[in-house]
Amino acid sequence: MTNNNMIFIANWKMNGEKNHISGVNKTIKFLKKSKNKKNQIIYCPPFTLISSIKNKVKNSIIKVGAQNLSQLNDYGAFTGSINSKLIKSAGGEYVIVGHSEVRNQENDILINKKIHSALKEKLKVILCIGETYKEKKNNKTLSVLKRQITIALKNIKKINNIIFAYEPRWAIGTGKIPKTSELRKNFEDINNIINKLKKNQKYKIIYGGSVNSKNVLELKKINDLKGFLIGSASLSAKNFIDIIKKSTN
Ligand code: PEP
Repeated sequence: MTNNNMIFIANWKMNGEKNHISGVNKTIKFLKKSKNKKNQIIYCPPFTLISSIKNKVKNSIIKVGAQNLSQLNDYGAFTGSINSKLIKSAGGEYVIVGHSEVRNQENDILINKKIHSALKEKLKVILCIGETYKEKKNNKTLSVLKRQITIALKNIKKINNIIFAYEPRWAIGTGKIPKTSELRKNFEDINNIINKLKKNQKYKIIYGGSVNSKNVLELKKINDLKGFLIGSASLSAKNFIDIIKKSTN
């Protein structure tokens, strides 16, 4: 695969006190020196750090996103909720939707509403899809992916602002990754599902689930894999930079 325009998304989950953002300086420095200017680097910190990180990265290629959003577009009496308008006003340009850690409380229809809401405010969507271990063992991966993608894209005309993140739920935070053959098949299936639903449209598929600087070389053997969604390894600037370095040349 060509390795010069990949996407690297740091999902900090519920981590990151204010002083943690100093690590972003290391990534900025690394990117300034790097000859490769085509990669896309996106930080998704907790809501509380979006505007501080945005401020820090304003002169670099780094973009910032949120980890979730409310499906409601209008402001109102919804204590504790954050919608696409608020994410945008804090400096977010991306939002993760349907992450495995929130899919337990969300169904496919709600995820579809969230995508509509994000795209309406011109946020780019990082749509997470993937099967549980039980679904994988019961040979349900294809049907799960079909259901998740079909419902997520209902009444969405253009998918150019959606990044598809294939994240097997059993691989998140477990240190396990799929076999290359399994990953290749699932990427093929995802491509087929999307192409059938949205003919002749451009989109990208990335992988997430226990990515680190040791397994990234194995993972990037997949032809259509255009980047990584990185959880725990992205909390260390060194590890995050190592993954970028190893994936691109
Ligand atoms: C994630 O949060 O999307 C993720 C893939 O986490 P981890 O890399 O820790 O498995």
